[in-house]
Amino acid sequence: MAPTTSFNDYLARVRAEIREVSVAELRRLQAERGAAVTLIDCREPEEVENGVIAGALVLPRGQLELQIEALVPDRAGVVAVYCATGVRSALAAASLGQLGYDAVNVIGGVEAWKAAGHPLDHPRRLTRSQLARYARQIRLPELGEAGQRRLLDARVLVVGAGGLGSPAALYLAAAGVGTLGLVDDDAVDLSNLQRQILHGEDVAGRPKVESARRTLGRLNSDVNVIPFAERLTAENARRIFEGFDVVVDGTDNFATRYLINDACVLLGIPNVHGAIQRFDGQASLFCHDDGPCYRCLFPEPPPPELAPSCVEAGVLGAICGVIGTLQAVEAIKLVAGLGASLAGRLVSYDALNARFRELKVKRDPGCAVCGDAPRITELLDYAVSCAAPK
Ligand SMILES: [Zn+2]
Repeated sequence: MAPTTSFNDYLARVRAEIREVSVAELRRLQAERGAAVTLIDCREPEEVENGVIAGALVLPRGQLELQIEALVPDRAGVVAVYCATGVRSALAAASLGQLGYDAVNVIGGVEAWKAAGHPLDHPRRLTRSQLARYARQIRLPELGEAGQRRLLDARVLVVGAGGLGSPAALYLAAAGVGTLGLVDDDAVDLSNLQRQILHGEDVAGRPKVESARRTLGRLNSDVNVIPFAERLTAENARRIFEGFDVVVDGTDNFATRYLINDACVLLGIPNVHGAIQRFDGQASLFCHDDGPCYRCLFPEPPPPELAPSCVEAGVLGAICGVIGTLQAVEAIKLVAGLGASLAGRLVSYDALNARFRELKVKRDPGCAVCGDAPRITELLDYAVSCAAPK
């Protein structure tokens, strides 16, 4: 039988085998390597409530080995772990080292951080009912409580409370996006209900934003719905877009689509694009991460006679669900910081043949609005409009 070892001997052996940094060395490492340093707080949830080091991912010691690969799939960078005093995180660093990570322990942990006079971040605390409501997505290590807090703090603007805006807004609200702006100047019509699932028969004739606010409020009272019962124009776009993190384009006409695109480029707001017609749909993310904008793909609006509206062309309602939901997913990923976005890729959906295709789209240096020498520097209302009901 192996001789018994005291915990102190064991800890000393572990610490001799791992790399350790002081708080000052951690800050130097962060300054030098930036995003290549992932900071992990491995304390228990109740300890984290009193504040974490800014930017730290919270991953309690008990779940560390189980979830680290989902949270930090790339082993190329440095993973710095801390706890309250540097003991548990020493064991954590040893374990991460065995999993192939370049792990370092922060000597003295949060106590040393505070003693050096550095502040802690105080993340918003989720209420018990929020923890219960969002449990199935908080359980995803990529999202976790930190991602849920980002969703609750996020501000997403949905332009159009129609076929695409309906599923998009419903899923955004269900996911707990804290502030949802909705732009629409239309009233609910019976012919909308085949695809505009925010609305019901009982609100026919009422403004869509009012109906949407009621539906979303019933779904999730966490969400602050800001209605804009007006048509988006070159004159009001800046005022409406101001302060939103992401715009979801749920419009069905080219005039508004180009206006949204140009406003997003000029204001630096990502634009989650979606479009549907007949049995087809498409989605992408524009104006994000040096990616293209809508004009890089389609420089000018088509002439009105070539721009069919939903009324003329018809659309299968459920396709709005597919595309609008794709838009909701992209917006959620963007604000929560998840995965790889659709920037630079246009996904098209051919429902009749049950086929998804992907088209690569590059930013066009000659683009009129996002190019190297833009000609569009102010917003304009476009004469072209198929003026179809959404
Ligand atoms: Zn462009």
